[in-house]
Amino acid sequence: MELNGKHITVAGLGKTGLALAYFLLRREAEVTVSDSAPEKILPEVQVKLRQAGAKLELGRHETPTFEQADLVVLSPGVPHTIAPVEAACRAGVPVIGEIELTARFITTPVVAVTGTNGKSTVTRLIGFMLEKSGLSVFVGGNLGTPLISYADGAQEADVVVAEISSFQLDTAETFHPAVGVLLNITADHLDRYPDLRSYGQAKAKLFERQTEDDIAVLNAEDKLIMELTRNIRARRCLFNISAPAQCGAMIKDEGINLFFTGRGGARIEFGDNFPPGRHNLENAAAAALAAFSAGASFEGIAAGLREFVPDPHRMQWVACINGVDYYDDSKATNVDAVARAVEAFRPPVILILGGRDKGGGYKGLTQVIQRRVKAMVLMGEAADCIDRELGGIVETRRAASMDDAVAQAAGLAPAGGTVLLSPACSSFDMYENYASRGKDFQRAVHSLGKDGDGKQQGNI
Ligand code: ADP
Repeated sequence: MELNGKHITVAGLGKTGLALAYFLLRREAEVTVSDSAPEKILPEVQVKLRQAGAKLELGRHETPTFEQADLVVLSPGVPHTIAPVEAACRAGVPVIGEIELTARFITTPVVAVTGTNGKSTVTRLIGFMLEKSGLSVFVGGNLGTPLISYADGAQEADVVVAEISSFQLDTAETFHPAVGVLLNITADHLDRYPDLRSYGQAKAKLFERQTEDDIAVLNAEDKLIMELTRNIRARRCLFNISAPAQCGAMIKDEGINLFFTGRGGARIEFGDNFPPGRHNLENAAAAALAAFSAGASFEGIAAGLREFVPDPHRMQWVACINGVDYYDDSKATNVDAVARAVEAFRPPVILILGGRDKGGGYKGLTQVIQRRVKAMVLMGEAADCIDRELGGIVETRRAASMDDAVAQAAGLAPAGGTVLLSPACSSFDMYENYASRGKDFQRAVHSLGKDGDGKQQGNI
């Protein structure tokens, strides 16, 4: 792809937008970076970008900047449905996303992971299993370093493992992972897609350009995934299978049975420290299939599973105070993630929910709340909406702040119970991101009392 002298508009000036701008400037394109937020980045970064030759358009997207470009490249957070991007499309300007641009320059085989939940965990787990197998790995994409930064460097890794969101797939035309992983499709981001099916179709685009030489790792228990991937060309490798198969992973007791026709199979046990919940066993199975397909050994996979330390704010144990375990699952911003988290604990669970509503409704939590939750504490903008849908099921309280929520939850939890922050909402009504919400929860828990009994695991 020729970039030299082309007028290219980069939409969005976050970490990826910045990396895109530098990538394009190094290839002597005429770059304009446009971001609707006025002060998106630090002034010194703006100065550096200008010195490197970029034009900046901050606080607005001017339609001509898009319509008159030779190419528009979107950062992952920018929807292709905003007016200036649609105007560019109508004017015949090619519009691609970061992943698509990267795909045209990357030479290392890519393992790409998508799904509603578990992407970060599985991406990191695959990377770890490959490293434990002695391969050099670049782990990035939506998580950590943008893929375009890798494409901009020496590309020395044996394998790239990338977390990809459905938004990124919306604008990926030729992107072609050697191994594509689709974990699950459940209601989320329905503020951006008309229905679950269109959201699923965006995710299934991961497999569109794959050939018979590629691998698709798919969740056998997810009916929509099975339906949407029926006609893909890649070889299918299923996790969550109930009987031995040509290529697949079956979860059984505390381990997984792996099958690869022609390449053997293995039984791999989970370590004691592996994160709780059936969903994490599914993540492990998907990661094992993807890692093996990308060159990992059975020994490397087993070592990866034994030694894996999950990222914070995903069912992270915080403390045990007066016999009550506190868990931070702030990353759970949709109903399925919350349901899976609650299912991982024995009752009684006191569930702290709320934040900014994402449009999918909360009724999907009804059964799991009936089975395991003793009381709910609701906070944030979505409290009214959650109360309307779930309020009558169990005792329901309102909290004005995180300290208030934790104090009320502590008062409701009997010894032996669990207090779980698993909000089913985004954090942007009160916090910068899910991590600051999780940290605030942990701070509030620790300030409840310093008399924790030091127990390291809860009543899982
Ligand atoms: P993502 O990158 O897709 O947001 P994470 O690994 O960061 O995924 O996990 C996000 C949330 O989803 C956490 O609350 C986690 O406990 C939950 N989760 C992880 N894996 C799964 C899964 N396979 N199914 C449902 N929920 C999951």
